Amino acid sequence: MRRALTDGRPARREHSDGHPDWCARAHHCTAALPGGEHASIPEVWQIEGGRMVGTRYRDHAGHDHMELRIVLGLPDDETTAQAACRHLMAVSLMVVRRVFGLDRQEAGR
Ligand SMILES: [Zn+2]
Repeated sequence: MRRALTDGRPARREHSDGHPDWCARAHHCTAALPGGEHASIPEVWQIEGGRMVGTRYRDHAGHDHMELRIVLGLPDDETTAQAACRHLMAVSLMVVRRVFGLDRQEAGR
């Protein structure tokens, strides 16, 4: 599998050409524009019934974030399709909170 979100080496902030090592540069990177960001090559995982696409970004302040898209086919029945969408979003939110420790931050308030 191609590692688009990281180059596999330990994280570092310095880079000789002004881009993080994982930045795809060229048309992916908009860091030279006002409000632009460095961007990785999207990492695509083919999954059952669809795909997941993760892209890493770094803004001008040096803050990293990622975009995760999940593309899946929906059931033909509208009610079931809406329920599946909301279920996926709710479960994804739980996973995001767990992975990024947001659930622990909320518990500590
Ligand atoms: Zn860049």
